[in-house]
Amino acid sequence: MPDHDVIVIGAGFSGLYQLKCLRDQGFDTWVVEAGDEVGGTWYWNRYPGARCDIESLEYSYSFDPALEQEWDWSERYAAQPEILAYLRHVADRYDLRRDISFRTRVEQLDWDGTQWTVTTDDGASRTARYVIAATGCLSMPSRPEFDGMAEFAGEVYWTSSWPHEGVDLAGKRVAVIGTGSSGLQTITAIAPIVSRLTVFQRTPTYAVPAHNKPIADRLAALRPRYPDFREESRLTRAGFHCGEESTAFYADTEPSRVRAEFERRWLDGGLCYTQAFRDILTDVDANEAAAEHVREQIRLKVADPELAERLTPRTYPIGAKRMCVDTGYFEVYNEDHVSLVDIETDPIRRITPRGILAGETEHEAEVIILATGFDAMTGALNAIAIRNGRRTLREKWEAGPQTYLGLMSAGFPNLFFITGPQSPSVLSNMVTSIEYHVDWVTRALAHLRSKGLRRMEPDPAAEENWVNATNDIADLTVMPRAASWYMGANIPGKRRVFLPFVGGVGTYKQIADGVAVAGYHGFELS
Ligand code: FAD
Repeated sequence: MPDHDVIVIGAGFSGLYQLKCLRDQGFDTWVVEAGDEVGGTWYWNRYPGARCDIESLEYSYSFDPALEQEWDWSERYAAQPEILAYLRHVADRYDLRRDISFRTRVEQLDWDGTQWTVTTDDGASRTARYVIAATGCLSMPSRPEFDGMAEFAGEVYWTSSWPHEGVDLAGKRVAVIGTGSSGLQTITAIAPIVSRLTVFQRTPTYAVPAHNKPIADRLAALRPRYPDFREESRLTRAGFHCGEESTAFYADTEPSRVRAEFERRWLDGGLCYTQAFRDILTDVDANEAAAEHVREQIRLKVADPELAERLTPRTYPIGAKRMCVDTGYFEVYNEDHVSLVDIETDPIRRITPRGILAGETEHEAEVIILATGFDAMTGALNAIAIRNGRRTLREKWEAGPQTYLGLMSAGFPNLFFITGPQSPSVLSNMVTSIEYHVDWVTRALAHLRSKGLRRMEPDPAAEENWVNATNDIADLTVMPRAASWYMGANIPGKRRVFLPFVGGVGTYKQIADGVAVAGYHGFELS
């Protein structure tokens, strides 16, 4: 008999909810977490300005109406401390900690034909019939090596593992490398307190304003109909509300109406901007119109036209890299103590004892902050030696991940992924997608048990069809046209394939619900 029915890896949004569901179903479950507290993303990423870019009313669990009613979100976009406090509250409220081992990292998984042996970094191992990887899509930091790093006389910090005690940056000369979401948030938050800020940018970013604000009134109005609101989210394209269904751009190119729609979305703020027209991700003209409106706004915000141009994204479609939601990012560059280094034209040559040498110029700094992103979607899974007796999952995925529905991979039975590659995951409100996957997996395990079955694995043909379908759908969009982390392009040597399922949360739900209703069609159960 295995030690546990199920071992879950990770105690972020996914692992916590997975534990609760399995416990409710009577499965003996053990959760292993590398960090020393629950929270996942919101435990590790404590950099200044860290905040979600999906509205709090949507970026939260929906599984318990009582939890929804009792938790008061203070702002439209919650900051990291509030989200972490929420997840800690969830862990306490459902008494989850007693089944979680913290400060323990899973290093190896071995399938012996009937069960998994899970080996952790303390050398111990335990067995389970099922393993659920709730390891996160953005939990494996990408840490590029810069020559001379060890010689730097100042302090170096990574946004993805910010010190818990905080860092005093007041009055210091600070360099930030990276202008993705974490970089933008950090830059905006620290600019008012540092004496000098030098930003190293490879690619300019499309950012839309957050218009963050308190939401007490909105919360009070929503509470009576919260469950309906959640149900609607589950059927949307991205797992959250973006207003009424928009028209197609090609059907309405009248310039004043187009402008009015972009303007309306811009003033409303947030990621719904790219849903102004429903073909922005599929029609290059629609995409260019949406991109051009953002470029115009950047020109309005940045006083120096030459600097505005350097901050303006032109080389890739809007939405093809993760969009950012900002709270005054571009305006930061109007300050005299802030400067921008374009590392496309002036590459970082090395870190020196006094700062960063880019092109021919040494930029002095007392602190370097690296906001260099993550090995997305497959990084945390590939960091574990997952072996089925013949080969590793990493070897199988050498040319890109192969999954059925993003939930399992053929040849690796009884191993489930929460928001795995080829599921909507990072293209969605991830809490919607997490809850959907956790519910789906929990029902599958209950189904197996009720039928006296012990093994589940995708049929290789069904998997191949799904992989082809996800690639084909991605190719219908502008998404693969950027060197993005969605494509694995930020990691040297990583095969470039589009990692998430771009067909939408609602569509995905219909497919995966259908598969389950049809007796887990495309899976082999025994
Ligand atoms: P995680 O929160 O990443 O948790 C995974 C956990 O697994 C981690 O705690 C990790 O330590 C643990 N783990 C991994 N491997 C191992 C191992 N081998 N052994 C033991 N433990 C392991 N999504 C949105 O939808 N909206 C947002 O606004 C948003 N903002 C974000 C901002 C930042 C800065 C980042 C990094 C991500 C953001 N995301 C956002 C994505 C975010 O990751 C998800 O929304 C969500 O938090 C994922 O939860 P999770 O439990 O699946 O994964």
